[in-house]
Amino acid sequence: MEKRDILSMRYEILEKWLKELGEPSFRAEQVFRWLHRKKVKNFAEMTNLSKALRQKLEEAAYITPIAVCKKLVSQEDGTRKYLFALEGGSVIESVLMKYEYGNTVCISTQVGCRMGCRFCASTLEGVERNLTAGEMLSQIYEIERESGERVSGVVLMGSGEPLDNYENVMDFLELVHHEKGLQLGHRHITLSTCGLVEQMYRLMEEKLQITLAVSLHAPNDAIRKTIMPIANRYNMEELLRACRAYTEKTGRRITFEYALMKSVNDSDDCAKELAERLHGMLCHVNLIPVNDVKERSFSRSDSERIKRFAALLQKRSVETTIRRKLGSDIDAACGQLRRGYLQQE
Ligand code: SAH
Repeated sequence: MEKRDILSMRYEILEKWLKELGEPSFRAEQVFRWLHRKKVKNFAEMTNLSKALRQKLEEAAYITPIAVCKKLVSQEDGTRKYLFALEGGSVIESVLMKYEYGNTVCISTQVGCRMGCRFCASTLEGVERNLTAGEMLSQIYEIERESGERVSGVVLMGSGEPLDNYENVMDFLELVHHEKGLQLGHRHITLSTCGLVEQMYRLMEEKLQITLAVSLHAPNDAIRKTIMPIANRYNMEELLRACRAYTEKTGRRITFEYALMKSVNDSDDCAKELAERLHGMLCHVNLIPVNDVKERSFSRSDSERIKRFAALLQKRSVETTIRRKLGSDIDAACGQLRRGYLQQE
């Protein structure tokens, strides 16, 4: 019999499964709390369960293993970058970012990515596999264990396209805010997508209070197609229509991510065109100075250009912020830590 992935089980599934093993229904609450509140890494630590039951669980299930294989801590702002080793030898990256209002963890949803954005390091070798819900949770749990910090926000902005791993991401969102688990409010969670329109329509039907971030990175299809292959599947009009529908259904404001790349998407005309396209939408633009990826030819717009781009949007009533760069001394942007590690091997 194959062992079950217990950390990925929704509460009701766990309850049902324990019943099948002959356990009373209150057992689910005990086990769930050990897993998601106390965040134990093995069954032996579940000390209020009988030895016999712990043994039985050990034989029938496993708790997703995760181990730190590299860690970088910023001396400037305390940002921590982790490279984690998972089952089967996969490695992924996660980041702990410290803000005045709390700690946010950036997690990966896939090993690699198959979206092919030209400026991104995570996608250079395509996707290796989807992460399970338990593996998404365990990034947060391991960071809490390792750093001793409490996590109050999560962004699904590490490697991978969350909507390309839809079911597991939905399980994760359910588990992470469960009242008997970490209890993280959906309002403190941001899911970032490169714009998988079909899945965006599916997502809005779930009526979750999460923030949806959409990687736009261009004011029109012509430019978007040169940097994001997904633009060949869905044009901007379809994408923005889905964004408007999302806001209508959920009442939530959309965040548009826009990585500024020198002479690609950072001109005055680009800013004006973007403002026009977003006119009247309940949204927010987050300008990101693109991280240089050595395998990629794009370079960052200079800071004067970034400020001017922001000002042009703001003048046209588009709410805009420039993303603050955290952990610049540990210089490990989007997927680069993992790549560096893989190349060393
Ligand atoms: N696949 C999802 C989420 C992961 S990427 C998405 O595309 O949104 C998270 C964000 O980082 C996206 O906005 C992505 O476009 C951006 N990103 C990727 N590589 C980057 C780089 N080199 N510099 C700045 N932002 C980058």
